[in-house]
Amino acid sequence: MRLSRYFLPVLRDVPKDAEIASHRLMLRAGMIKQQASGLYSWLPLGYKVLMKVKAIIEEEQNRSGAIELMMPTIQSADLWRESGRYDAYGKEMLRIEDRHEREFLYGPTNEEMVTDIFRTYVKSYKDLPLNLYHVQWKFRDEVRPRFGTMRSREFLMKDAYSFDLNKEDAVKAYERMFVAYLRTYARMGLTAIPMRADTGPIGGDLSHEWIVLADTGESAVFCDRRLLDKSIPGPDVDFRGDLKPIFNDWTSLYAATEEMVDMAEYEAAVPEEFRISARGIEVGHIFYFGTKYSEPMKATVTGPDGKEITVHMGSYGVGPTRVVPAIIEAFHDEAGIVWPVSVAPFEAVLINLKAGDAECDAACDKLYAELNAAGLDMLYDDRDQGAGAKFTTADLIGIPYQIILGPRGLKAGEAEIKHRKTGERETLAIADAVARLKGLIEPQRKTDI
Ligand code: ATP
Ligand code: MG
Repeated sequence: MRLSRYFLPVLRDVPKDAEIASHRLMLRAGMIKQQASGLYSWLPLGYKVLMKVKAIIEEEQNRSGAIELMMPTIQSADLWRESGRYDAYGKEMLRIEDRHEREFLYGPTNEEMVTDIFRTYVKSYKDLPLNLYHVQWKFRDEVRPRFGTMRSREFLMKDAYSFDLNKEDAVKAYERMFVAYLRTYARMGLTAIPMRADTGPIGGDLSHEWIVLADTGESAVFCDRRLLDKSIPGPDVDFRGDLKPIFNDWTSLYAATEEMVDMAEYEAAVPEEFRISARGIEVGHIFYFGTKYSEPMKATVTGPDGKEITVHMGSYGVGPTRVVPAIIEAFHDEAGIVWPVSVAPFEAVLINLKAGDAECDAACDKLYAELNAAGLDMLYDDRDQGAGAKFTTADLIGIPYQIILGPRGLKAGEAEIKHRKTGERETLAIADAVARLKGLIEPQRKTDI
């Protein structure tokens, strides 16, 4: 992408009303624009990151055996009356009336709708297990929308729903999602810890929140430091096999949110030197809730003996529009964002130090074409601007590598690579630049961790 042809409205000034680093940086880097309280447009740079996050989530959901579909944002009130949640949900629900005065709502979650799809088509135990998911916009009229897209009113959510014949199978479905979540966050470069959680209005008795430790997080959490060093299951993990050993390994160490923590239990379970009592950002939440929706909504299948069985369900949420700021909270410095390669809007930026100079333009254009041909996701700063401004922008928007070429280097046949994370610089022959960048970037894509 040529920056001269792109839409990147970076702000020079620090927005005053933005309280946390990720919100400030998302505004400054031209990633989002607020349209009303809790409602945001995702501008091209932000949208590109959001789509990379979404793609990782989808790949890991698919790997675990979940199947993607798409349900509408607008739902009928009658469906929610069947589960009893239409009245129970309260003011967080945005209620809508159509021209025929029929009642609708902008979905805050999709248990009812997916249960309706299930009961319409699935009739036999032979069709189980089943896990259906979508990535769709939700609306919750939050009392206090804040921190940009971290807590907004309209937000994107990946929500998956599992259907099983009994509790034992449903727990296996839960374990598959648990492992898929471990892999999902790790691929984004995030350390997210599964913690015992309260089930809230969705209900149920087995639940984990996925927490990224951050001082700006809204939840107080208590956990064992050794969880930070646990290994992540690899891409060859067998989702058709027994995942209980992995689940037990992760859940054997203490981790709980403030709603669930029992201080005596925490102190007994975790030796003092391993205790972390900190703040965290909830980036995901998974539940097993049995027959809470299938029972009132009559989602049943015929079992092996011909009897009707009410299915056991679970639901599994991740908010990509919250994950993006959570990644920024974890990866930034004074100069701006420091994206992990796997979610970076561009993997590298080619900086032409003297745009307008015919020789320099020709050399940069050629290098840009070669970098693209090598499969690197490139930004090309070809604007007619001073070097200082270009470096500032590149640092602010957090591109992992800068490849810098100007008239002096050109004469010597050399370019420079700057590593955004460490500030390290290396000078190398222009002819070696493509291979070197490829060698740096490819292992960090984490497509096969
Ligand atoms: P919170 O306690 O932060 O309000 P929740 O428990 O209401 O979250 P869930 O219903 O479990 O959230 O939703 C699943 C995921 O959706 C959350 O883990 C989070 O990543 C995301 N999410 C929920 N509410 C919001 C919001 N207002 N803005 C952005 N993302 C959200
Ligand atoms: Mg909430």
